[in-house]
Amino acid sequence: MQDFKMLIGGDERAAVGGEWIESVNPYTGKAWARVPRGQAEDAAAAVEAAAAALENPAWKNLTASQRGALLRKAGDLILANAERLADLEVQDNGKLKAEMLGQMRYLPEHYYYYGGLADKIEGAVIPSDKAGMFAHTVYEPLGVVVAITPWNSPLLLTTWKLAPALAAGNTVVVKPSEHASVSMVEFAKLFLEAGFPAGVVNVVTGFGAECGATLVEHPKVAKVAFTGGDGGGRAVYQAAAKNLKHVTLELGGKSPNIVCEDADIEQAVKGAVSGIFAATGQTCMAGSRLLVHEARHDEFVEALRDFVAAAKLGNPMDRETKIGPIANLSQYEKVLDYIDIAKGEGALVAYGGKAYHGAGCENGWFVEPTVLTEVSNTMRVAREEIFGPVLSVIRFKDDEEAIAIANDTPYGLAAGVWTKDLVRAFRYTKELKAGTIWVNAYRVVSYAVPFGGFKQSGIGRENGQEMIKEYLQTKSVFINLDKEVPNPFVLR
Ligand code: NAD
Repeated sequence: MQDFKMLIGGDERAAVGGEWIESVNPYTGKAWARVPRGQAEDAAAAVEAAAAALENPAWKNLTASQRGALLRKAGDLILANAERLADLEVQDNGKLKAEMLGQMRYLPEHYYYYGGLADKIEGAVIPSDKAGMFAHTVYEPLGVVVAITPWNSPLLLTTWKLAPALAAGNTVVVKPSEHASVSMVEFAKLFLEAGFPAGVVNVVTGFGAECGATLVEHPKVAKVAFTGGDGGGRAVYQAAAKNLKHVTLELGGKSPNIVCEDADIEQAVKGAVSGIFAATGQTCMAGSRLLVHEARHDEFVEALRDFVAAAKLGNPMDRETKIGPIANLSQYEKVLDYIDIAKGEGALVAYGGKAYHGAGCENGWFVEPTVLTEVSNTMRVAREEIFGPVLSVIRFKDDEEAIAIANDTPYGLAAGVWTKDLVRAFRYTKELKAGTIWVNAYRVVSYAVPFGGFKQSGIGRENGQEMIKEYLQTKSVFINLDKEVPNPFVLR
């Protein structure tokens, strides 16, 4: 059992209260590490450290180009540590080593991209209508940013916040999930090594209600960037409103993945699998509702079943494994409950449907990849986010109906469409109400392309050039070039 500490103001610290949270490896079912159970006092100390770092000349007076250079150095260090960080994430959340290593090797690109962008944020000289006035704008950092993240891809989802926040000149407190904090603690130390002054990047570990809530309510925090479930998102939004903080929310989804009549079935099966069984379905953008044209339904379900049957469940560290365990016990129980709910509502189990304890998986929280057919869009499994390897297959008869079903959800994070017809593809991209739409692809994200939700899937976007503005505020400056100040009693 290893202990990992928080990083506050450049110091590694245990919680003031001396308590710890055990991190359980979802594959072995055994605790393998401990992180401090931070409370309000620890959260407040991290905010104070971040607020002090904002005023530290070693950070405040850096040029944008110097900040960019630091970000690029951090990117290099992340790359050098990719394998170690991936191993920590796999032990924490049970996701495949292949997936986590791929993520870790891709993370540096975000720091190179936003590092390059840091000195390209240009204000404007505005040709003002006010005679004798020179008007210009500058962009300034917001201040202390709190980043709150879930357990499914801790470092990727932190990076979506951290890279633009630092490029913009803010300081940051990260609160990772209580289920998967270890990688973040180790990750943060790389920023110190890269040369970021102490307090620019801080990490507090602990539960949302105990430690996260203090961060969100702290008066010295300017912005909260949250990724997580609807309940946490709503609580954060309400708490942040109390003292008018900037907020971005990346929440859940119930994304449709639509297989049109003319789709290439072999490719679309791979798309369905990457939508729901990759990452064991524990991804916000999961294509958990598979809408299949009625003429291709049976053929598709059979091909899907064959493909899934060949996917090995097992040790996530093993390169042969395609489906790992569920990340924690409560999530495992929730997934199994939803399968029962689906059966109770009349769905049929076309594949899977049970916990899995086959060879090598005896101690982990495994659920068989589950394909439910005869699902209607009114059933709970079609409306509520499960966050596990459970696919609801829904038939449709034409494009109008597919679009209506796809949009009949409170969510709007992502959608996939499988068709060979370009005109049809354009129609779907226009009609679907979702923040990201893939055509003949699924689960593709890029540091250069905005990501975020329509409707209840969130507020704001992450990634891409414009999104750095989510971490900046505009200052407008008028300079009077005339000697005379005219009538002071009227607005100029
Ligand atoms: P969660 O909402 O339970 O927790 C997320 C984080 O919020 C954790 O760090 C938790 O401690 C913290 N938290 C919870 N309540 C809080 C409060 N009141 N104040 C402050 N912090 C609080 O989510 P989870 O179970 O860890 O993750 C799964 C959810 O995350 C799913 O709904 C999934 O769709 C969503 N998610 C969304 C995206 C996206 O980009 N849209 C990406 C990944 C995951």
